[in-house]
Amino acid sequence: MLDDAASRRDLIKAVAQEVIDHAEELTALDQAIGDGDHGVNMKRGAEAVLADIDNLAEKTLPEGLKAIGMALVMKVGGASGPLYGTFFMTLGKSLPEEPAPADTVAAFEAAFQAVMARGKSHPGQKTMLDVLAPALECLQADPSASAALCTKVAEAAEATIPMLAEKGRASFLGERSIGHMDPGARSSALIITTVCKTLGAAGK
Ligand code: ADP
Ligand code: MG
Repeated sequence: MLDDAASRRDLIKAVAQEVIDHAEELTALDQAIGDGDHGVNMKRGAEAVLADIDNLAEKTLPEGLKAIGMALVMKVGGASGPLYGTFFMTLGKSLPEEPAPADTVAAFEAAFQAVMARGKSHPGQKTMLDVLAPALECLQADPSASAALCTKVAEAAEATIPMLAEKGRASFLGERSIGHMDPGARSSALIITTVCKTLGAAGK
């Protein structure tokens, strides 16, 4: 899986482009319950990654993921930059160069735990963790069930709509945070779905 630079490049490009294509939607979600910068933040990170794509794709999978994580910490900013940065850096630290499915599940779990530690947060608080947690459960049940994972993360992002925000800027709104999808949950779902679809289409 992802053992050549061309397939790593295709994946990086697909994910970054998906984030850029959805920047306005992510901003609109953040306008409803935050400060309206999530799309701009994520787009800035994705553009920085695209600007360095050849170098990133040449690296081994773990080193490339670590470099992407560092780029996101530096470029995305806000609350989500350090959290996404932590997620990708931990994936890079945890994955071997040629991961078996069980390695991917273990690395995803380590990355999820690292985001919780960094955010001092847990699932149920209307954040990206409400997509990452069910994604992890789905992977643990069957690491190869990519269609099920896509459905699960889409549903999980929708399921943040009735939740009360307890972390980040949205928590300042209290009850008024109810009725809107969490922007970070939506961006996490977009990223996970694009990874699944790109790897699935490439038969990886
Ligand atoms: P900011 O809130 O600083 O403007 P962004 O708008 O880029 O940053 O990101 C907001 C998203 O970050 C939220 O929708 C939520 O998913 C996520 N988030 C914020 N704080 C936390 C936290 N403590 N733990 C997990 N996720 C968080
Ligand atoms: Mg924001």
